[in-house]
Amino acid sequence: MTRSYQILALYGDGIAYEIVPEALKVLDAVSRVYSLNLEIIGPYEFGSKYYAKHDMKEGWDPEVTRELLFDADCWFKGPVGLPQYIGKHGHYLPINQRLDQDLYANIRPCRLRPGVEGVLKGREPGDIDYLILRENTEHMYVKAGGTLSRAGETEMAVDNYIQTRKGCERIIKKGYELARSGDYKGRAGAPVDDKRRLTVTAKWGICQGDNLFKAVAEELEPDYPDVETDYAWIDAWSYWAIMRPNYYDVCVMPNQYGDIMSDMSGAIQGSMGLAGSINAGDEYCYAEPTHGSAPDIAGRGIANPTSMALSIGMMLNWLGDKNNDQSLKDAWKGIDEAIDKVLVEKKVRTPDLGGKNSTVELGDAIVEALLTS
Ligand code: ATP
Repeated sequence: MTRSYQILALYGDGIAYEIVPEALKVLDAVSRVYSLNLEIIGPYEFGSKYYAKHDMKEGWDPEVTRELLFDADCWFKGPVGLPQYIGKHGHYLPINQRLDQDLYANIRPCRLRPGVEGVLKGREPGDIDYLILRENTEHMYVKAGGTLSRAGETEMAVDNYIQTRKGCERIIKKGYELARSGDYKGRAGAPVDDKRRLTVTAKWGICQGDNLFKAVAEELEPDYPDVETDYAWIDAWSYWAIMRPNYYDVCVMPNQYGDIMSDMSGAIQGSMGLAGSINAGDEYCYAEPTHGSAPDIAGRGIANPTSMALSIGMMLNWLGDKNNDQSLKDAWKGIDEAIDKVLVEKKVRTPDLGGKNSTVELGDAIVEALLTS
């Protein structure tokens, strides 16, 4: 009897309303092809638009309970946030997504796929295939700061940058494991020389937390003799990622650097619309695209749904690892290959890829490629 899994689906804002339905179509198709037993809960609304609709009075859909987020085997959401509501609402969900579920690893692949015109001169598909591995629970986003306001004027703002030994250790170990497994990549190893390589990047020498990050990596390095360890300052890394992207395999970095470098990597792989990601811990995982709600193109039916489809595929792979279920891991490979098949044909492409097709047409093409694989 096939094991069943509960997957919670949430919309979000902006293009979420266009790309989440495509992800649901892909989940349905992949379930049929790989005989998965997935029970989809939702999709439910949340995010800034939800707040606006409810006059900022309610935090979330009453059906989206804290228990539901913990009970589901996995969950996924579209991008959240609209510029007009920044700072104007409370929590989006009844949990602090990354901290409460301890989702310490944000995995964000950067791969130049076949059929996609890259922005870097002379780089061909296969030349770029690295993972950004962003620590997801520490650093500048812990909110251990505050402001000094006197007579209504904010005079000072402080952000504290927190890095712990535990936080450094587990994300760097995860980096080594990903370099070993080649998971979420087109091929294991760095494209230039096939070496499994972990690039540790931060700004040591300047930031105390980054000194700790490097020191922990140096302590762990002897445990992984099969993976080459490479160290780069984050500013230098941003240069080298553009000049020689083929050198990189898995690149591990503290939270804020990962946030910034994954957007740059969205450009390096040809479009933010191709940038999938998961937020993964040891117990829980959720999927969301790397990009935001893209209000500039929302409502026009032209957003690229590939980022969302890749994200849910990665989520299935994580679930397969956790439950030792090969059919889920095969389903991820199926989605990954179906996307390559559609891209290489160049028949159906959204405007970000230079085409004229709609979100729905590209979603249909991915489903078709899956069903005929
Ligand atoms: P945030 O600040 O939350 O990351 P944003 O809306 O400012 O969000 P992004 O959504 O991350 O920025 O993306 C930047 C640009 O990339 C958008 O303005 C949009 O034009 C493009 N983009 C993002 N996602 C997609 C997509 N799925 N398909 C096509 N273009 C996209």
